[in-house]
Amino acid sequence: MKLLRFKDEEIYPSKIVCLIVNYHAHGKELQHAIPEMPLWFLKPPQSIIGDGESVVLPELSKNIHHEVELAVVIGKQGKDIPIEHALDYVLGYTILLDITARDLQDKYIKEGRPWSISKGFDTFAPTRLDIVPTSEIKDPNNLGLRLTVNGIVRQDSNTKNMIFSVEELVSEISKVTTLEKGDIIATGTPEGVGQIFSGDKLFAEIEGIGTLSVDVK
Ligand code: MG
Repeated sequence: MKLLRFKDEEIYPSKIVCLIVNYHAHGKELQHAIPEMPLWFLKPPQSIIGDGESVVLPELSKNIHHEVELAVVIGKQGKDIPIEHALDYVLGYTILLDITARDLQDKYIKEGRPWSISKGFDTFAPTRLDIVPTSEIKDPNNLGLRLTVNGIVRQDSNTKNMIFSVEELVSEISKVTTLEKGDIIATGTPEGVGQIFSGDKLFAEIEGIGTLSVDVK
């Protein structure tokens, strides 16, 4: 795994909290119901790789998907964080690709079993390791985000289309679990998810944050 960086400091995330269906159009494309409150799963921090590294396709799956997401990095410990103070707990923002073994996820959903393994393989969380400070992002709920595969646009949306805002996510998640410095909230993916193959080159960008490139092995 790789550590995050904030200026000269290395930061270890104790958890990656990933949102389930936080864009209407993505819920529609997967035929998943829109949740009434933020629903999430945990991805192991061991799955983090950095810019220029490779997603390794596991033998257990035949259908691996890309999901581009705005990642919120927590700056200080918080529990039951009031929504009006939520951004005080945010250190900054970055880009995370929530790589997903869609066939395993679909199979376990159908069987009513937990589907953590579909999200938890090593290399399944390519992340721009350098965190952009909160002060540099005027409104995290209005950022263009985009993903190309081999130069072809697959996902192109804006965080204003999120169902739950960054403030709501921080506040609601902290009602369940204590958020620690370095923890990542991956805020969900817009529509356009699709399969990746060995040799593909993924290029993600989020307005005001920067870019992230990885290839697929
Ligand atoms: Mg996702």
